[in-house]
Amino acid sequence: MEREVQRARIAFGSGRSRPLRFRLQQLEALRRMVQEREKDILAAIASDLCKSEFNVYSQEVITVLGEIDLVLENLPEWVTAKPAKKNLFTMMDEAYVQPEPLGVVLIIGAWNYPFVLTIHPLIGAIAAGNAVIIKPSELCENTAKILSKLLPQYLDQDLYIVINGGVEETTELLKQRFDHILFTGSTSVGKIVMEAAAKHLTPVTLELGGKNPCYIDKDCDLDVACRRIAWGKYMNCGQICIAPDYILCEPSLQNQIVQKIKENVKEFYGENVKESPDYERIINLRHFKRIISLLEGQKIAFGGETDEATRYIAPTILTDVNPETKVMQEEIFGPILPIVPVKNADEAIKFINEREKALTFYVFSHNKKLVKQMIDGTSSGAVTVNDVIMHFTLSSLPFGGVGSSGMGTYHGKYSFDTFSHQRSCLLKSLKMEGVNKLRYPPNSQSKVDWAKFFLLKRISKRTLSLLFLAFLGIVAAVLVKAGYY
Ligand code: NAD
Repeated sequence: MEREVQRARIAFGSGRSRPLRFRLQQLEALRRMVQEREKDILAAIASDLCKSEFNVYSQEVITVLGEIDLVLENLPEWVTAKPAKKNLFTMMDEAYVQPEPLGVVLIIGAWNYPFVLTIHPLIGAIAAGNAVIIKPSELCENTAKILSKLLPQYLDQDLYIVINGGVEETTELLKQRFDHILFTGSTSVGKIVMEAAAKHLTPVTLELGGKNPCYIDKDCDLDVACRRIAWGKYMNCGQICIAPDYILCEPSLQNQIVQKIKENVKEFYGENVKESPDYERIINLRHFKRIISLLEGQKIAFGGETDEATRYIAPTILTDVNPETKVMQEEIFGPILPIVPVKNADEAIKFINEREKALTFYVFSHNKKLVKQMIDGTSSGAVTVNDVIMHFTLSSLPFGGVGSSGMGTYHGKYSFDTFSHQRSCLLKSLKMEGVNKLRYPPNSQSKVDWAKFFLLKRISKRTLSLLFLAFLGIVAAVLVKAGYY
């Protein structure tokens, strides 16, 4: 492992990952890989997650292709140095901010979207000019295998290295020094990653999970709300970090919500959900047993059927859920939707604020004032109003958590920034040393006064131009006097 990281570091040291042309070539090669090997990629993910290839394509492949296209289009602008504002002391100098690659970065992926959660950050890391060690989730064995087979066929083999393995290998990997780590996974493992990173002062982006609240107001189109929630909750069998984890609503809405979600489930997956090609299974027996245990002592208003042999759990709704029970103490990450009755919006806000900050908060309401109150009164990685999941599809929005749902963001330009260092550059000439007398000892009151004028005075562009013209005037006068003209 040490040798692999060293190989990436030497490749990064060669400087070849830095030129814009090289980054664009690698991203184009990545796009070619996805297009040419689409069938192999779809088959691997589909078999890992018991998922239809249509769903793999629309949930994973499209996202990756869209992100590559966005980066290819915008990278020339992103890599360009941005001029910085100057003060009177530096008026004649060059000041700019230059994004530069961080070095060797580590990307650790999760299993629930094993392709997109690994390749999406990889796109940003390549775009920013880094070398990358990629650690896909071991729980999606076929996807991990196909990534380690295909990536070296299309990308620079020393700059972008796939290392496969489970907890033992990841633990070993985390002993190495990286220049950044982007980890996607659970909050508990996120803490392990951060602790390991701290030993090397390595910055981290932690894309974690949590319980995403979903408030449904009585002033709302319940048909539409329940349709959207049913789609977002049961997609991927509820194994989505941004799925609505539980519903908060007034007690009188509970039965209507159950009824409407039930109708939508029937429409989406047919009479027999088990037979639907669009309904997935729980990733493994450990998670299956964990999710089943959350049903203990609950009032099942819909669903509840399970089959251990195929790790099937039906779309399920629990009503009148007591916040103290187990299902409300941990992230569900499965197709169980608890409804917790609350008196009103104020109580919902209080409920949310008494718990850890979520990755996403959902609000359904026609009432704009209430929506604003809910947004202003809470905190979460993201908030989506009158829909679920869709903020993930918008590359112009930073994607990430806050508090225990994570730190840092990625997607689009935010990925580029995450994997870049914003280097401050001030380029002076060795001329005009006279001006610098002010800053050299011995100090005096008049020097302090001049320093105050130069550094503290906020000068408008117009005044700065006038001062510059005056300066040019003085120079011209001196030159004329000296007989140059
Ligand atoms: P996980 O934390 O179990 O595993 C994630 C990665 O960490 C895997 O690659 C695994 O090999 C590694 N790992 C596991 N245990 C480890 C240990 N003890 N030491 C070192 N490395 C270890 O998470 P998961 O089960 O793959 O994914 C589910 C979790 O991820 C959920 O909490 C979900 O909310 C979260 N998630 C978050 C996002 C996001 O974008 N915020 C996306 C998907 C999933």
